[in-house]
Amino acid sequence: MDQGPMENAFAAAATLARGDLVGLPTETVYGLGADATNAEAVAKIFAAKGRPHFNPLISHVVSLEAAEALGVFSPLARKLAEAFWPGPLSLVVPRQPDCAVCDLACAGLDTIALRVPSHPLMQEVLRAFGKPVAAPSANVSGRPSPTTADHVLAEFGDKLTLVLDGGPCAVGLESAVVAVIGDQATLLRLGGLSRVELEAVAGPLLAPDASSKAAPASPGMVLRHYAPRAPVRLNGTSAGSGEVMIGFGPGFDGADFNLSAAGDLVEAAAHLFSMLRAADALNPSAIVIATIPETGLGEAIADRLRRAAER
Ligand code: AMP
Ligand code: MG
Repeated sequence: MDQGPMENAFAAAATLARGDLVGLPTETVYGLGADATNAEAVAKIFAAKGRPHFNPLISHVVSLEAAEALGVFSPLARKLAEAFWPGPLSLVVPRQPDCAVCDLACAGLDTIALRVPSHPLMQEVLRAFGKPVAAPSANVSGRPSPTTADHVLAEFGDKLTLVLDGGPCAVGLESAVVAVIGDQATLLRLGGLSRVELEAVAGPLLAPDASSKAAPASPGMVLRHYAPRAPVRLNGTSAGSGEVMIGFGPGFDGADFNLSAAGDLVEAAAHLFSMLRAADALNPSAIVIATIPETGLGEAIADRLRRAAER
């Protein structure tokens, strides 16, 4: 049976609701989409893309109203959203305290990247799904971004249950990324909008600056990556008195937390940021973490843990 675009949007929403990945058309590039509120689904994105570290993903929503439930919009952020949404602009704003998007999609940051895409089929998917969709470009790490459904199939083929064909992308470039904290707007990435277009609305945009915490050079670092207050000890096997243990795999029955009792790296990635926070909240003298095998997603998990252990 040949399905029309509407049925396809409902099929995509159902696939997302099951926690599976979908190839999705947007006006910028094709996205590899997952339910942004489901950390295990988001972990599948990182596994499929084969990234060696966790970077924050853009959460796609249907409207500015939906975005404001997730992020804190200053008057300047709202002005940019009203001028360019739906469209190729991603706004990085502070997360709402009750933000439904999982920690993994935000790479543990206290900020969130949000966008309302204009592609009609993507809008149908977002309306049918009713929740935010995390979607980085649908390419294997290090390869160019896909701008047709065939590109996505060539990248991921049978790893994806569903790729929605929305035709070739109209913009064909990633979205521009602007961080807006209060009345400070920082241009993090040029893309489908030019600096001139953005500055006509926002006024002069700050450049990322390595020496500034508000606008540092690396886009992933707008606010500092979540670092536990407690010292972190890697490759531990048990917790001493006052310490908290985060295990991995079988054999950690007595541990306070286990990233995955089954030793599943996708499950471990899904639990990583929330367990670090929960362990830290116990005010331990140290957080002891079991060895993580550095294969597949384990590489990104170990990279994040090494940075948590540096002080
Ligand atoms: P992509 O999804 O592949 O188009 O890339 C997302 C872009 O948005 C990357 O440049 C990220 O570093 C940036 N980004 C997403 N979330 C944040 C955030 N919370 N803070 C800073 N940059 C972000
Ligand atoms: Mg990309």
